[in-house]
Amino acid sequence: MDNIKRLSEEIRELKEKRKALILSHVYQRPEVQEVADLVGDSLELSRKAAETEAEVIVFCGVHFMAESAAILSPEKIVLLPEKKAGCPMSDMVDAEALRARKSKMPEAVVVCYVNTSAEVKAESDIACTSANAVSVVNSIPQDQPILFIPDKNLGTYVAGKAGRKNLTAWEGFCNTHDKLTLTDLLKARDEHPGAVILAHPECRPDVVDMADVVASTSGMLKFAGESSAQEFIICTEIGILHQFNKRYPGKKFYPVSNKLSCPNMKATTLEKVHRALVTMEPRITVPADIREKALSSLERMLAVK
Ligand code: SF4
Repeated sequence: MDNIKRLSEEIRELKEKRKALILSHVYQRPEVQEVADLVGDSLELSRKAAETEAEVIVFCGVHFMAESAAILSPEKIVLLPEKKAGCPMSDMVDAEALRARKSKMPEAVVVCYVNTSAEVKAESDIACTSANAVSVVNSIPQDQPILFIPDKNLGTYVAGKAGRKNLTAWEGFCNTHDKLTLTDLLKARDEHPGAVILAHPECRPDVVDMADVVASTSGMLKFAGESSAQEFIICTEIGILHQFNKRYPGKKFYPVSNKLSCPNMKATTLEKVHRALVTMEPRITVPADIREKALSSLERMLAVK
């Protein structure tokens, strides 16, 4: 039996024993996605996990995602198999820097992308995902200034879509998506003429402008399933290709560039998932006062229709 098969079987047995639920972000390694109970985007996973009877959540993703799971499921044990798996974009804003900026923009509503720490969410007025960011911004009165954190690319996209000139975007970005240049995209388009271009709004504005469809990871997967098109160029982290190929085997999906691989997302391996279930470490917790405030930001977002 090969190593992946053996580890996967042992993980499934351990999971039953621990009453654990394994969540995997779509950017994880294929073998990690395969061993998971649920595969999806970060908030969707945490929300679904909160509705289950599981006592333990193993989050195969990055730190802020495990924090979101802990915020939504305070009674469950949350494990992050690779403790050092952080998100460089989320680290581009911390609570102290945000407080300093807020003091200079006291009238601004702070909209935080879910790719932020619990502490930053606690300092924000309302959270958003890449799927609902435009609706969240539209729910804020037109004359009220907005401070959008931390992704300048998503902020720019949302400001354009919502027609908001009074949105100030923080200077953060995703190291992985921001690597993709227009030249890379034009090359992929030349190689696959006629393929529909799907881009994540964390990409640079010139890449987003050239895309046929701009969507979150869930939105891209949904679109590819419903579209009559047969070929797609995928402008997001390459781990998602596993889901495209698995869900729609008759269609063709081309990664725009193999540069789009997030080292933090690839840091989780089956060995680490196995070890986490054996040792019940590393655990991710959020202090109660921070949790309460961060939860309010998420709940305000969920109230937006
Ligand atoms: S892909 Fe980008 S946003 Fe996602 S974890 Fe990696 S650095 Fe963070």
